Amino acid sequence: MMRFAVIGDPIEHSLSPTIHKTFAEQCDIDLTYEHMRVTPESFDDDVNEFFSAGGRGLNVTQPLKTLAFNYAELVTDRAMNAGAANTLKFLDNDMVCADNTDGEGLVQDLQELGVSLNGKRVLLLGAGGAARGSLGALLGEQPEALFIHNRTEATALQLINNYARLGKVDLLESTTSGMSFDVIINATSASLHGVRPDINHTVFKGAVCYDMMYGDNARPFTKWALANGALAAHDGLGMLIEQAAASFMLWHDIQPDTAPVRRMLSQTQAHSR
Ligand code: NDP
Repeated sequence: MMRFAVIGDPIEHSLSPTIHKTFAEQCDIDLTYEHMRVTPESFDDDVNEFFSAGGRGLNVTQPLKTLAFNYAELVTDRAMNAGAANTLKFLDNDMVCADNTDGEGLVQDLQELGVSLNGKRVLLLGAGGAARGSLGALLGEQPEALFIHNRTEATALQLINNYARLGKVDLLESTTSGMSFDVIINATSASLHGVRPDINHTVFKGAVCYDMMYGDNARPFTKWALANGALAAHDGLGMLIEQAAASFMLWHDIQPDTAPVRRMLSQTQAHSR
């Protein structure tokens, strides 16, 4: 039986095993998919052991995405652009390929939600791993303007430089009350620290807002946005499912139907509130 896993730290609450097992059932593929706690210190040993023992693929979450990118012998263009990987695939020639499906997952979810970025003014909050993994896909949708605001400006500038050859991204040092955006995407983990991204609340008016976090963790941002005139505010559960579908496609060459999993997990999340 083919063996897969998601690795990270912490990892025990990951929904990836449920998502991948459901895709596998749907596509009639025999596999196991577990979660494994792996730390940066144990990364090389754990990943070597997993692949030596016949493992076929890994999903990688924080804080291991850069290590995963550096581990692989082959790297897809989008992982190269991001400098980080969320998917590793063991190839028939015994090499490991790294990919980054976060951006595809985000854009696919926005499409499912009926949110178009084409010709729109988009504000991306954050410049960490998730923002890095998503920027290429956001540029690919050809927004009219794409701005980044991040607590640490230097990190945002570095990100803008990394993507300069793919399109224009502007640094937004601060937000003022006259500014407006069509879509605002929160890729910060500020809510986990009990704070809000440092932006003027007036920018939410008339915008569709999106937090990459999901469930309770997304609620401080989505509630704040809606209370200040956002047209809609979505969490990142759909992104998680769509990025998993893109990883599944990379491993199995089959596109799973995400609709039943989206329905199942949004109901589970609603019941757990
Ligand atoms: P990183 O740790 O790489 O980056 C965190 C980002 O949040 C940085 O931009 C950081 O700014 C900012 N930040 C952290 N604390 C604060 C604060 N107190 N105030 C303002 N900004 C802050 O994390 P990731 O980029 O990997 O993940 C970000 C979020 O996206 C996570 O919560 C994660 O769960 C979610 N995510 C969801 C996915 C999905 O499929 N739905 C996929 C990937 C991530 P600075 O540079 O100044 O430190």
